Formats: sequence, C-alpha cells, structure tokens
Amino acid sequence: MATLANGLIGKLKRFLATEHDVLLVTASGTGGLEAAVQNVLSPGDRVIGVDAGVFGKRFCSVARAYSASVRRIDVEWGRALEPDVLRRALREESSCRAVLLTHNETSTAIRHPIEELSDVVHEESDALLCVDAVSSLGAMPLAIDSLGIDVVVSGSQKAWGVPPGMAILCWSAKAWEACERAAMPRFYFDLRRYRDAQHNGSFPFTPSLPIVFGLDVALDFMLRETPAGAFERHRRIAEDARSAVRSMGLELFADDSHPSPTVTAIRVPDGVSEPDLIEHLRTEHDTVYARGQEKLRGSIVRLGHLGWVQDPEISAALEALRLSLEELAAT
Ligand SMILES: *Cc1c(COP(=O)(O)O)cnc(C)c1O
Repeated sequence: MATLANGLIGKLKRFLATEHDVLLVTASGTGGLEAAVQNVLSPGDRVIGVDAGVFGKRFCSVARAYSASVRRIDVEWGRALEPDVLRRALREESSCRAVLLTHNETSTAIRHPIEELSDVVHEESDALLCVDAVSSLGAMPLAIDSLGIDVVVSGSQKAWGVPPGMAILCWSAKAWEACERAAMPRFYFDLRRYRDAQHNGSFPFTPSLPIVFGLDVALDFMLRETPAGAFERHRRIAEDARSAVRSMGLELFADDSHPSPTVTAIRVPDGVSEPDLIEHLRTEHDTVYARGQEKLRGSIVRLGHLGWVQDPEISAALEALRLSLEELAAT
C-alpha cells in the first residue's frame, strides 16, 4: 500500500510539474470542491466566485452552503471571464479571502484565461486562488506553481481516464497556512489527516482502491506519452472536432476565442428535437452525447474528448451526429 500510494503521488507530481502537495481524497470532483472550501475558509469570509456555467455556479454554491459570503460575478454562458471584470470585482471587494475560479467550464465548453486571471488576482489582492480544474487537469497545461495557484481540484473520471471515485487536490504552502486558521466544520475532508497519513504512505480512511490502482496505471500511460504530448493531442483533437462541426454547417456554442480542449458544445439546429437527436444517436449509432445542463438543456449537445481518446473515436462520434441529423430530417 505504501509503495503504491507514494509511487502514485510521485507520478502525479511529476506529470503536473508541481512542488505543491498532492492529495487523494475518496470523492467525486464536487467533494474536492467541498474539501477546498472547508479547508481554507471560515464562516463569513468574503470570496469571489464566477457564474459562467454550471460548475462555476456550483463552486459558489458550495462556499455559500458553508456560510462564506460570496460575491458572484455573472458571465454570459458561453463566454469566458474577462480579466478586467475580475479586476474590478477585486477592487470593490477589499477584504477578499479567496477567489474561486473554474479552469475549464464543462457545461459551456469554455476555457477561461487562467494565466491572465491569476495575474490579476495576485496584482489586486493577497487572496487565495482556488481553481476547479476537474475537467482540465491532465489534459491541458496549468502552471500551478508559477501561477501561484493555492488550491487545484481534479477528479479521476475526467482527463485521468479512469472511473469516478477519487478527487485529486494540489495544495500550496499558503493553502496549508490557511488550513490551520480555517474555522469551517470538517472531519472526513480535513486535509491535514490526508497529509499526515501520506507521510506513512497511507490514507486516513479507506480509499476507493480500484480507482487508486487505475490511476497508477493511467499515470504510467500518461507519463509515457509525456505531458506535452497529452496536451498537444487534446488541443489537436478539439481543433479538428470544431472544424468538423463547422464543416457540417453546425454552429458551436462557445465563444471562439476561448474554446475548450476537452469538450465541444454544439448548438442543436432549428427544427431538430434535442431529445430525439440524443435518443437517435444512442439507439441507432451507439453514441452518447452529453446533453446541455440547466438552462442549456435542449439547445446544445456536448462531445467530450478528454482522457485516453484518439482521433478515430472522435471522428466516428462526429460522423454519427452528421448521419443522425440526416436521418432525422428524412423521417
Ligand atoms: C465534472 C466536473 C465537476 C465535478 O463533478 P462530479 O460529478 O462531482 O465529479 C466539477 N467541475 C467541473 C468543471 C467538472 O467538469
């Protein structure tokens, strides 16, 4: 167990090129967001969050559930957060304790400009920078240490390509200081327990062992491909997917200046019923597209291309979409 745990943490740190602590917690990605909130904040702390989609909004909701005082920046869904909008909010919120950002907003297929945004956070405040990188970490570059990102959250079922079950957290020295002062109630997610257990190559509570074994194997594959190789593969597949969508005469949902390398959102064409399209894809072409979430339900479908994906799979999924639209139009 100790060899497995130590080896896996070492591989994660190598892939992520980080000196920050890396912790594994048995939970889905949302549990990781909750652990972040519990371990750096106290009730009443002022934080800034961003509603640019389902997951940015969720991070705000988690903080609010623990009685943080959340100032929420609302961004039109499908667009990225502009650094100057964040700058203005930070200037107005003088005692901001933490900024909660999303790296890749999975619900709208936007990649927020995290490099510029983190510069703004550090220029305007000494707030902790907490980043939901659940659907980006492992698939696109994130210079955790040099950008001064205190807390990073990811989940095993996204770019790591294994089933759900383990949240991955990267934790800076500044986040550990905050952890000692944080007054939020916590027990299972008290990250000091995970740090202390990790020193003995162990976990404080029973981990989801199948996922830990799976992650260890996935990291071997990913390190063999190299981080740069994995990032380039995701970037290229996403670019090819977007151009295939356009060449079918379909419209992309997300603003073209900040496209996601891990998910593509496609507008459902006028006159097409989204439930019929989803059903037809599944039953006639064995292809599962993700539906739009919340207010985007019915108007978009989403194609995920993260983890151990290769070009032929994505081409086949896009061909299934093209055929489905043709076949539905003919009925
Ligand atoms: C998937 C995802 C989550 C977490 O979802 P879980 O279902 O709890 O794993 C959080 N944020 C983003 C950006 C995601 O894509």
